[in-house]
Amino acid sequence: MSSFTKAGSKRKASEHLDAPSNVGPTLKVAKIHSFFGKKTEPTLSGSYKWLDPLGPALSCLHGVNLNPKPSTKVAAFDLDGTLIKSDFGIGSSRKASTSTPTAAPSWEWWRASIPAKLKEVIDSGFTVVIISNQALKPAALKAWKLKISSIAAALPDVPFRLFAASAKDGYRKPMPGMWTELERIFVEDGVTIDKAQSFFVGDAAGRQYTGTKSDFSSTDRKWALNVDISFLTPEEYFLKLPPHTNFTLPGFNVSSLPTDLPTITPTSSPLLPHPPKQELVLFVGYPCLGKTTFFRSHFEPAGYIHINQDTLKTRDKCVKEMQRHLQDGKSCVIDNTNRNATTRKYYVDVANQLKVSTRCFYFMGSIELAWHNNLYRTFNLPPSVATVESKRELVPYIGFSGFRDSFEGPSLEEGFREVKKVNWVFKGTLEEKKYWSMWLQIDGK
Ligand SMILES: [Mg+2]
Repeated sequence: MSSFTKAGSKRKASEHLDAPSNVGPTLKVAKIHSFFGKKTEPTLSGSYKWLDPLGPALSCLHGVNLNPKPSTKVAAFDLDGTLIKSDFGIGSSRKASTSTPTAAPSWEWWRASIPAKLKEVIDSGFTVVIISNQALKPAALKAWKLKISSIAAALPDVPFRLFAASAKDGYRKPMPGMWTELERIFVEDGVTIDKAQSFFVGDAAGRQYTGTKSDFSSTDRKWALNVDISFLTPEEYFLKLPPHTNFTLPGFNVSSLPTDLPTITPTSSPLLPHPPKQELVLFVGYPCLGKTTFFRSHFEPAGYIHINQDTLKTRDKCVKEMQRHLQDGKSCVIDNTNRNATTRKYYVDVANQLKVSTRCFYFMGSIELAWHNNLYRTFNLPPSVATVESKRELVPYIGFSGFRDSFEGPSLEEGFREVKKVNWVFKGTLEEKKYWSMWLQIDGK
């Protein structure tokens, strides 16, 4: 607070907001309107406008205050707890969800110096972008939109662009969708962002404190890491406090995976019988561990029949389909999760009756990795890939927890001639690997 000494008249106005007050929200906001209304013509109402929402589900809300110019230097800010005081857990938005809003919910600047500081940022050639997660119910969202107009009206000389992720998808921080949209929009205007000169300020920084409450989340810090721009907390950026180095980034990151694993073990026996021989192969493993891709690479070229319950709907149909093909002398792969011995026995028994030998391919990988791959495939493919690939639906978390809760590792006692283990090895371009390697999460799974 004290580091901003060049207090202009505008700043004094915003300081009203920081002062404890019993004045109701609408009165408080009206005060700002009238103050700035005297200074700036024409009237401030309508300085902010919502543009068409973005994304396949139109979940990325998008708006502009005044007429923000693209710049190679981006100053990005989180909203709640960064530019304005957070109403996290006690918020006016929660109250608003039970009634139809007519006035903007109350809000206050995080510190009185915020408007002046944002003006400084604009004056030094940055473009200002607000990046916010707002998974609110429709009524609350309506109130929140009124709040944005009210905030914009209090920034009559700060053009800015705002993105808000309104659903749990690839726009939600820490996933980088809002940045991807920003880059795309700027490129359309012939501007390529210089990441080295850009930064993001947010309060969800994973900071740990002794004796007091830690940050509720670390998604802002993770977002900056994903986007690959500098990160600062509001205290570091606005108050010039030294960096808070005691922070944690909980959750799964691919950097925790072992490297240099052989793809398949044991390597002493061939992947396919040599010479070729009819067989049944059962896959075992979580969804999203590359089972179908493995089939396409190794078994399909050798003429194996692909049997999959997502396609055939029931296990009974899978068993019948397999039986028919085995009787025809074909080899089959059962590309299901095949979580326990009971499930696998349905297939093994039929193969045994037909005197066809069976093998098992066990796809290794934790539930965290499998879920991460699910998020990656659904929400975080590189933009160049996402635009050409057909949209995938997220596999629900129950598909992963259900497997985990009833899993039995495959063993030779079940009648398999061999059990091979398939380790997860990312296959793709460098660009794809970059997007796969990001922090990916959706709150509450
Ligand atoms: Mg925040």
